[in-house]
Amino acid sequence: VELNDVAARILTRPEAELVGASWTARLEPSARERLAEPLAAMAAGRLPGWHGELSLRSREGLRWVEVALSPLSATAGDGMFVAQMVDVTARRAAEDMLTAQAREDSLTGLANRVQLRERLESALAAPPGDGSGVVVLFCDLDDFKLVNDSGGHTLGDGVLVELSRRLTSLLTGDDLAARIGGDEFVVLRPRGGSSEDAEALASEVLAALGAPILVGGQPFSLGVSIGIAWGSPGASADDLLRDADSAMYAAKREGKRRAVVFSDEHRAQSLRAVRIESELRQALASGELEVYLQPVVDLADGSWTAAEALVRWLHPERGVLAPGEWLDVAESAGLMPEVGEWVLERACTLALAWPGAPGFPAPVLHVNVSARQLDVAGFSDVVRDILGKTGLPPERLVLEFTETQLDNVTDALMADLTELRASGIGLAADDFGTGYSPLTRIIELPLSMIKIDRLFVGAMLEDRRSQAIVTTLVGLSDFLGLALVAEGVETEEQAERLRGLGCSSGQGYLWSRPLPPDEFLLRLSEAPAVTRPASG
Ligand code: C2E
Ligand code: CA
Ligand code: CA
Repeated sequence: VELNDVAARILTRPEAELVGASWTARLEPSARERLAEPLAAMAAGRLPGWHGELSLRSREGLRWVEVALSPLSATAGDGMFVAQMVDVTARRAAEDMLTAQAREDSLTGLANRVQLRERLESALAAPPGDGSGVVVLFCDLDDFKLVNDSGGHTLGDGVLVELSRRLTSLLTGDDLAARIGGDEFVVLRPRGGSSEDAEALASEVLAALGAPILVGGQPFSLGVSIGIAWGSPGASADDLLRDADSAMYAAKREGKRRAVVFSDEHRAQSLRAVRIESELRQALASGELEVYLQPVVDLADGSWTAAEALVRWLHPERGVLAPGEWLDVAESAGLMPEVGEWVLERACTLALAWPGAPGFPAPVLHVNVSARQLDVAGFSDVVRDILGKTGLPPERLVLEFTETQLDNVTDALMADLTELRASGIGLAADDFGTGYSPLTRIIELPLSMIKIDRLFVGAMLEDRRSQAIVTTLVGLSDFLGLALVAEGVETEEQAERLRGLGCSSGQGYLWSRPLPPDEFLLRLSEAPAVTRPASG
């Protein structure tokens, strides 16, 4: 009957065209349907008014209006309304954008974890019915850290954007690419066909992401490790992602830059991890862990100058378990700070009871430190507390770190290490020579000792290159004033060669296997065994 200018503008028609026509004709069919019931109720006098947002078609496309409707008179049946309208198109657009952003990775524009889950769940719920399954590729960049370290984060971001673009170019049909972590991507193919198809897709991803990319003007080839999991309808999204993730870790273990299909073997491995984790929590609480000790021997006189603490799990059913069987699980399950602190305290307590002899001070204690322990802030405080509690002098403690741990030294860790070293604690580079850290690391870090990996000691007699490495490390440690221990000495010939090369200390089955604490103490106390090479 009547409308003002603004209403005409919202409806994008001239007033003359609108007067006399049904204004609901301009609404979207779905909006009209929604209104039918309240309109009837208002006309019948059952409803005093209505309020809501409706969409309408205009010359400028879809518009959203907030509408308040009230009957013009209280008399039922006259069918006249006043409609007040506010154009909320801009607000709706902003909201839509926010919703999209909440489901998108802001850096790359790929889907994020939320959207991936939604899509994965709906793919698993709606079987295509043609025998194909849902394929998930879990992709983790190899050594992306190198890019960030050498070029900074802006450059790293650029690389991620470029790789995302390459990933997107491989997608077909309903495929989805998501970025779910710093350098972790997932490709979802809801209709995955056969497992060969999945592997073919993985090969494409390997090739596309592995193609050289310019980093700071230099071509650089980043690898990617891919885990493939194939799910049939009804499988759970969590399981499928977890399986793809374990297969990705297998790809890393097998040497990176490859794709690995999740298999029963991986399933068995993850079951093993779950079992070990729960048993290990129990073991910590009920005192099933023990520290064994292996002597470090002076190659000149055979005396036991130190002992390395090596953790053992005295499993009630499976016997004595070496760390190789379970330590990886403790690490990934986050149990390591706890296990590590327990080992340190137990070992310090044991070491206090070790006797010295005239001219032979009580052996120094070596304790291994895991990367996970270093992740936790205040590592040096933990060590200082344990020394304070047990009363072991700092000069009697050496902490062993593997080379890979020393790859990644933050300022905070550097401060910790410097403080520990200043307090008199020794710091050893363990398994030295097996990692790939530059030699300069051993100058930068406040180390006091190098332990040559047993790989080189074992091969030294036959392999000239291994012997060259041992010789080099002897010279280097002399020059830098670092102590040197050769690990894994099993034969008298090896010991003899090490002496000849000028190495001063050794450790290995030649002198003793790791021993339970009381046996170690007994052997140590068997004077004058302290000054004589032990047999067997
Ligand atoms: P590692 O620190 O290199 O320790 C030396 C390993 O070599 C020990 O294995 C030891 O039993 C073994 N070994 C010693 N002499 C010989 C030899 O002559 N020949 C051969 N073939 N092997 C020898 P173990 O006790 O099984 O420990 C394995 C690894 O587990 C250790 O390697 C260390 O990295 C880790 N580990 C052990 N205890 C702890 C711990 O309390 N904390 C942490 N974080 N790691 C530990
Ligand atoms: Ca060690
Ligand atoms: Ca070692």
